[in-house]
Amino acid sequence: DKLMGTVRRANRIFIWGDDVPHPILRFEDVAMPKHLSEHLNETKIADPSPIQMQAIPLMLQRRNVLASAPTGSGKTLAFVIPVVKEITRLKKLKKYSAGDKLLVIVLEPTRELATQTFNEFSKYAGPNIRVACFNDESTVPDAEVLVSTPNRLVYHIKDLNTKFLRWLIVDESDRLFEVIEGQEKCFRNQLATVYRACTGKFTRRAFFSATFSYEVETWCKENIDNVGMVCIGERNS
Ligand code: ADP
Ligand code: MG
Repeated sequence: DKLMGTVRRANRIFIWGDDVPHPILRFEDVAMPKHLSEHLNETKIADPSPIQMQAIPLMLQRRNVLASAPTGSGKTLAFVIPVVKEITRLKKLKKYSAGDKLLVIVLEPTRELATQTFNEFSKYAGPNIRVACFNDESTVPDAEVLVSTPNRLVYHIKDLNTKFLRWLIVDESDRLFEVIEGQEKCFRNQLATVYRACTGKFTRRAFFSATFSYEVETWCKENIDNVGMVCIGERNS
């Protein structure tokens, strides 16, 4: 525990919440599906970044997670790795073998970011996990992982079966919480709609953002139980 305190201090990892697990020091500290570790090797990603060190074990605990770390610090992999690991395990269980269930929703504030995350997710997920984003025909894709903007997701919310959803991941959550004056369909309202639709008994939520926001923190502490929080660097707002 003392060692872990030192590791956290050295990496500027700040935590909040009950029973936050130890940070991982190497990717090998969590057993990874073959495809995932091979792809990490190919992309020459050797060691976890600070946000990955702490967010990966938190998500593997199936906690609700609030995470903030600067832009470019590897937040995408911080949620892609635990999710791919979890889905791979679930798919080995008979009841998930059909592969027709929506297990993960990732929200991104813009279509560009949604496409980018979709591409990265697909690479790490490998051929056995179906990752999708909305195409221009606007039909709901048959997928286990769906990456979307709130706008598009809200439009299709009635067509989604979220009963088996394991994760609602809100990326760039500080931007999604912004209230835009005079704009009724602001992200925050859309997020609330999505949130209400994702209340399955297996559903956990993870919020990732570049800036730490007391407003988001307060909202999460009030609205989500068993939340584990991790913040890298300074609390900057
Ligand atoms: P963020 O979402 O925090 O802004 P990204 O997840 O987009 O950052 O990652 C930024 C870049 O860093 C990507 O090119 C990604 O491949 C790379 N990257 C992610 N994790 C690591 C790591 N552990 N070591 C080295 N590079 C990494
Ligand atoms: Mg990002």
